[in-house]
Amino acid sequence: MNQADCDMTGDNQGDDVSIDCENALPWQQEGLRLNAFGRTLRRRFGGRVQRVSLDAGFTCPNVDGALTSGGCNFCDNRSFSPSRRVRLQRVSEQLSVGIEKVTKRYDRVQGFIAYFQPATNTYAPVEQLEEIYQLALSADPRVVGIAIGTRPDCAPESVLKLLQRLAKNHAVSLEYGMQSVHQASLDWMNRAHSHADMVNAIDRSRGRGFECCAHVILGVPGEDHAMMMQTADEIGVLGFDSIKLHNLYSVQGTPLGEEVLAGKVKMMEREDYIRTVVDFLERISPTTVVERVSGDAPPNFLIEPKWCLEKSALRIEIDAEFDRRGTRQGDRFVAPPVAPKDRPVPVDQTPAAVRDQIDARGRLPVLKMQGGV
Ligand code: SF4
Repeated sequence: MNQADCDMTGDNQGDDVSIDCENALPWQQEGLRLNAFGRTLRRRFGGRVQRVSLDAGFTCPNVDGALTSGGCNFCDNRSFSPSRRVRLQRVSEQLSVGIEKVTKRYDRVQGFIAYFQPATNTYAPVEQLEEIYQLALSADPRVVGIAIGTRPDCAPESVLKLLQRLAKNHAVSLEYGMQSVHQASLDWMNRAHSHADMVNAIDRSRGRGFECCAHVILGVPGEDHAMMMQTADEIGVLGFDSIKLHNLYSVQGTPLGEEVLAGKVKMMEREDYIRTVVDFLERISPTTVVERVSGDAPPNFLIEPKWCLEKSALRIEIDAEFDRRGTRQGDRFVAPPVAPKDRPVPVDQTPAAVRDQIDARGRLPVLKMQGGV
């Protein structure tokens, strides 16, 4: 799982700007400043598609002791424990509640993507993963696909083969918490994986028919502008299909939240974030779909920064910054010397500790509810 954020599946994509270019990509022909996710979904499915978040009761190897037990410093992973978890519902119930909420909020929603969001949603035996993904795909005829949030060290070959198979008939997105290319930043966040884990996972995931999405956090203390731009350049090197950008934010009950409350850590300023997002997007390929440009949390949990609650205003200001510069996504993109499709496919480096724990784990909570435990 990654920081929850402003999902760009909707229409609030800013006003169009016009361009005239025969060979432009569809989003460029539509006069957008960036390759926005909502428009991509509309082109693919012929109408509005919204995500519905699902909780299958997964935990995380960075929480249950397989790797560490602390979890990421920004993650409220206490909620992964069964005793603290809001009582789970069957997948079909979660979907119908979520679909009802979305259809009340938006007119004419054409389809839904079931989004396995909290915790590490590939952290179970592959047979159970297939059961649970199929439950979501078959629960409502309007579900057009699934999105699965996970860690770079939790994508064994068996899981990738499953997603490859499901992607033949459905939209499937595998969302990796990459966060940063810098080991010092990953260590500061207590991610308990390296960037080499990310490279291994994406080099085995690419080109299988499902979308590979990178989550990135901007504003990690100790990362200067040049370091964040190195992470931007790595998106093109590794050939991710899409990206979600998040500002680092702090919530109650987390190690980061305590440090922020104690005045030891400062969050990025709003203007700095807007400029950095635009710098970042200028450096990534115009073909990369931008799924999110900011992150936030429920107001009663959020500590800092408060400005991230103004998602629509941020989106407008990001467009305005592009306009001020006269640039668009990809204007500073430099293709890597080795095209992602030509990168060698490495052997699966999923850590033994993760594999062992997957094998030892019992049946997923949502599957227990389906009966036949
Ligand atoms: S990898 Fe980190 S952010 Fe994701 S679920 Fe585990 S502890 Fe939370």
